[in-house]
Amino acid sequence: MPIATTSPVTGDVLKTFDALTEEQIDGAIGRSVTGFRELRGTTFAQRAAWMRAAADLLDAERDDVGALMTREMGKTLTAAKAEAAKCARACRFYADNAERFLADEPVEASDVDASAAYGRYQPLGPVLAVMPWNFPLWQAMRFAAPALMAGNTGLLKHASNVPQTALYLGDLFRRAGFPAGAFQTLLVGSDAVERILSDPRVRAATLTGSEAAGRSIAAIAGRELKKTVLELGGSDPYIVMPSADIERAAEVATTARCQNNGQSCIAAKRFIVHADVYDAFVEAFVARMAALTVGDPMDDATDVGPLATEQGRDDVAGQVDDAAAKGATIRCGGEAPKQAGWWYPPTVVTGITPAMRMYAEEVFGPVAGVYRVGSVDEAIDLANATTFGLGANAWTADPGERQRFVTELEAGAVFVDGMVTSYPQLPFGGVKDSGYGRELSAAGIREFCNLKTVWIGD
Ligand code: NAP
Repeated sequence: MPIATTSPVTGDVLKTFDALTEEQIDGAIGRSVTGFRELRGTTFAQRAAWMRAAADLLDAERDDVGALMTREMGKTLTAAKAEAAKCARACRFYADNAERFLADEPVEASDVDASAAYGRYQPLGPVLAVMPWNFPLWQAMRFAAPALMAGNTGLLKHASNVPQTALYLGDLFRRAGFPAGAFQTLLVGSDAVERILSDPRVRAATLTGSEAAGRSIAAIAGRELKKTVLELGGSDPYIVMPSADIERAAEVATTARCQNNGQSCIAAKRFIVHADVYDAFVEAFVARMAALTVGDPMDDATDVGPLATEQGRDDVAGQVDDAAAKGATIRCGGEAPKQAGWWYPPTVVTGITPAMRMYAEEVFGPVAGVYRVGSVDEAIDLANATTFGLGANAWTADPGERQRFVTELEAGAVFVDGMVTSYPQLPFGGVKDSGYGRELSAAGIREFCNLKTVWIGD
């Protein structure tokens, strides 16, 4: 993929960039090592001051960086500004809590024949971060804020269609006061990832992206014996049981499916509805999906903008066409408008069978598949009948059903009577083909640390 900003609204290429040369990559890794030596010698208080300065910059520049993201990948400006604000909150969260999360963990010394014994968290060194375009600021920040607070340095290989947001991030931490080399953006294509990850100076990698990219990075890291965290795709279930507030469930379902123009790993994608409330839910859901305003993402009145790339739009259209050709019913939407840019309307599909691509594949656009089930057992079986395991939503007022969903859904997160989202305070990650490892919370900052055992005799 060329490294370029291309407008999803018009399809016009707005700005192109050259990939870094081998010499430039080598220099950046060298600076990452030097930056690490400097950063690991600083105090939590010093790093926290720089991190809070980064948060202040994000707040002050929210409108500009928001507009930049909207131009590069088509999310609504409202959502883009909210994303920048969320990044500032994550910076402050780790500034406030990193020292506590990484405090020594003492054990009873006499139990281990020592005068003192404890676990100590220490940073690993330069970490490669391969990031996607869908939340171009937030995905990178989820890595950067804890990594820098721990004393690691970051090398960001961002998605090739958001180069200007990537450059903004590289600049942000330097302007906030972090040492040169603490966090750098490498404008490179995915073909450079193997060379960077194989470099002995790079100690670990994190990827947020597709399953295919995850398998490739895990294979390279396995060969090189390097730690990885993988945040991959999802096909989150959204279960609606008879005791749910159906109007509220339909309202939140619309947001859960169409947030970020339908391009979120934790978007609800498969709507699994009990037969007793199926007709009422589908009617309310379709009415809301059809009423969404599709249009210019810069416009405050817009709910859904274009998809980020031509390939992404074609993939979604292909999945819906495949379902329709095999007998599914399109309740609303279902056809890309014939106009410039990569538009696809909010769409609801019912009557999906295992023969259809939508049944098993992740649908990365504003397209909901709705399924009818007859019992809580059937709902759980269908929800788990996927290779993915990122998030799961369940709507029920029944305490027994709630406990069953919490216990039996195979996912990294279960949200009851609400939609799956991320908070700095809560761990985030998946199971099965959605990846491994956790971001955010105390778990996220510890992923790229050496938990060193310290034992002192006298
Ligand atoms: P993608 O193609 O995997 O791209 C993500 C990043 O990986 C980009 O920087 C890309 O670089 C790079 N990349 C692609 N193929 C690679 C390879 N073989 N080796 C190394 N790097 C490679 O993902 P996408 O389709 O743009 O993004 C959407 C996917 O990300 C969806 O599956 C979504 O669910 C997932 N996602 C997951 C989470 C989560 O937290 N679990 C969050 C957001 C998105 P180029 O741009 O240069 O190709």
